[in-house]
Amino acid sequence: MSMDPTVGNFENADVLIEGKRIVAVGPGIDASDAEVIDARGRIVMPGFVDTHHHLFETAERALLANGLLLDDGSGSPSSFPAYAQHILGGFAKAYRPQDVYINALFGRIAQLDAGVTTVLDVSQIHHSPEHTDAAIQALVDAGGRSAFGFFEGDDRASVRYPEDAYRLKNQWFSSDDQLVSLVMGGELYIGEESYVRSWEIARELGVKIAAHAVGSWGMRPLYDEIAQGSGKVRVGPDNLFIHMTGMSDDTWRRFRDAGAQVSISFPIEMVMRHGTPPILKMQELGMEPSLSSDVETTMTADPFTLMRSAMSMQRMAVNQMVLDQGDYVPPTNYPTPAEGTPELLTVRDVLRYATVNGAQHLGLDGRTGTLTPGKDADIVLLDATALNVAPLNSVPGAVVTLMDRSNVETVIVAGEIRKWQGRMLDANLTTLRQELETSRDFLFEAAGFDQDLFKYS
Ligand SMILES: [Zn+2]
Repeated sequence: MSMDPTVGNFENADVLIEGKRIVAVGPGIDASDAEVIDARGRIVMPGFVDTHHHLFETAERALLANGLLLDDGSGSPSSFPAYAQHILGGFAKAYRPQDVYINALFGRIAQLDAGVTTVLDVSQIHHSPEHTDAAIQALVDAGGRSAFGFFEGDDRASVRYPEDAYRLKNQWFSSDDQLVSLVMGGELYIGEESYVRSWEIARELGVKIAAHAVGSWGMRPLYDEIAQGSGKVRVGPDNLFIHMTGMSDDTWRRFRDAGAQVSISFPIEMVMRHGTPPILKMQELGMEPSLSSDVETTMTADPFTLMRSAMSMQRMAVNQMVLDQGDYVPPTNYPTPAEGTPELLTVRDVLRYATVNGAQHLGLDGRTGTLTPGKDADIVLLDATALNVAPLNSVPGAVVTLMDRSNVETVIVAGEIRKWQGRMLDANLTTLRQELETSRDFLFEAAGFDQDLFKYS
């Protein structure tokens, strides 16, 4: 399944890789001197792309299993701990560079294991240049394709955001031909002086600008202001906005016209009260999202969960809309959708969101997102003979409706095998887990949380 309409799909075919690139896709490729991976019974497709994951929070996995974005004052089990108060305003302040490193490394390897060959690490932990270097080193050491999102730190004196981007460009990102690339964080909530400067630096360096847009966080007026052109920054095709929940119709239209992109975190937005994932608005405007996992404090980061959540949420909304066009009384209990009703999402739609669109939104579509000759070989082999999948009747259908991370058998990034027959290569997972647990112990102590396996859920 190439995800490239000009290449097409095949029941049986070969993918020829030379060095890090794909050189041919099709049946019966003659390459008798090539080393062969026998992929019979496997779905061969491009690796998944996650356009927004806060990798530094791996130590707090599932700590906010019920948690909301903000403490809503209800005193309910969902109001404590809350994300803004206790993760960003609590745990994050305690991170040392070594915590940033092991959290990001472990989280990134876990995503590779789940078939995510490309991720945007929305890294908001830059309390000092040492924190920043640790975050980038982790992405390099994990061996996946990653966009490093250089976002702010807290308010201590050692913070070098956003000016440190120049050093990062020279020291870490001087070549375009490497697996880890730079994206600039450009949050509007950090104050005008700072965001104007970060957008300016991004454009000078020619990198994309990513920013959260969350109505329930109170960002709507600021977004309206910049959309209307009355702020000091201009929105363009290099902007990637995350969530876009609760934004005004006018802002949506203006962002669409400016060519901006949107990453939707379906499970997190629904669970943590960001607002309803704006998929119907995007359909109305002829836009398509990429998918993102956001935070493992509250939900797993695997791409299958993201695709299934997108499809389930959108179809729930549209199916009810159609049923409401009738009255549950025969013969109008199951109406033909009225003109103008949004199309139901299909498995092919969400697969495109999770591959092609993600690559485009990170500016990496020249390298990844499809199995296309000339692109880098970012490929996953999914086991279609498995107990939860066989017999195989539909390739797009099986990937979206049946599979999970246990079916991700082999993962290749730029021609290098990172996971082989179910096992991550070149990573001592036992040692890494112990290092992560040590970091977790430190962070829980520093943030004043008990290590009690039942207390916070
Ligand atoms: Zn986020």
